Amino acid sequence: MEDNIVEKYLKAGKAVVAAKELARKLVKPGIPFLEIGTQCEEKILEVGCELAFPINMSLNEIAAHYSPPIGDTTVIPEKGLLKIDLGAHYDGYIADSAITINIDEDPGMQIHVDAAKEALEAAIEIFAPGVRLYELGEQISKVITSYGLNPIKNLGGHELKQYNLHAGLFIPNFKDKRHDQILKPGDAFACEPFVTAGKGFVINGKNAFIYRLKKKLKKNLTYEEMGYMNKIEKETKKLPFSPRLLLKKKIIPPEKVNQIINTFVRKNILDYYPILIEYDRAHVAQEEHTIIIDKDGNTIVTTQ
Ligand code: MN
Ligand code: MN
Repeated sequence: MEDNIVEKYLKAGKAVVAAKELARKLVKPGIPFLEIGTQCEEKILEVGCELAFPINMSLNEIAAHYSPPIGDTTVIPEKGLLKIDLGAHYDGYIADSAITINIDEDPGMQIHVDAAKEALEAAIEIFAPGVRLYELGEQISKVITSYGLNPIKNLGGHELKQYNLHAGLFIPNFKDKRHDQILKPGDAFACEPFVTAGKGFVINGKNAFIYRLKKKLKKNLTYEEMGYMNKIEKETKKLPFSPRLLLKKKIIPPEKVNQIINTFVRKNILDYYPILIEYDRAHVAQEEHTIIIDKDGNTIVTTQ
């Protein structure tokens, strides 16, 4: 990996760290999700980066993909596990990182967070050229099961490439030998253990709050729709976004945003990401860092 690319990852990493720190400060019972989410995203933009995806604020049995929609009235509850997952990019080089906030510091919940943190540290510990992806998963599940808890087996880490959040290779959260590829210099990965006392499996929920440009249509669109589609492409490339971003960047006027999104989903221009819920509705904790390997084989966690 070239030095100037490492610099870009580090810049995105710093933006994500700043946004995570802000989230830790802001999360208090009674505060609206929308207020926290908007401020954390603003922090990333403020330091000259762009959003690689909208903030995910997933509570309790929701493992991922809840991003406050336009007009959201959800507030932080008195207790529970809140996952804050943030992504920034600079010139398309993405830092993806998550923390779990144990709102009332309940000790029974804290072990989920501790297990996720320790599992992530254990994976980072062995992260080096030559290591196989399933060996990272083995480390992760070893730590999590030592707490008497389960990793979520159908979620995991992923390779990162320029403007590509899920770039192909996958880091399982258990020893899944199908993922036998080897880490090598130049690689960038997000590693993300998920922990639960439930079965350790997520299913799709009903609602989706995150979208992504899937493919552009050349016909069957009005002139106006064509314009919106092109602007979405220019703004997001093919990275996931919240409809909130389309308002913030003045891409679609507020009175049209829902209708355009629904039309684009129906016409298969936009893909959507349903919320992911733990099978047994058990609470979930997540910790995530982005790790890169430079050309000399040194690993760097962008979020330090
Ligand atoms: Mn993430
Ligand atoms: Mn990720």
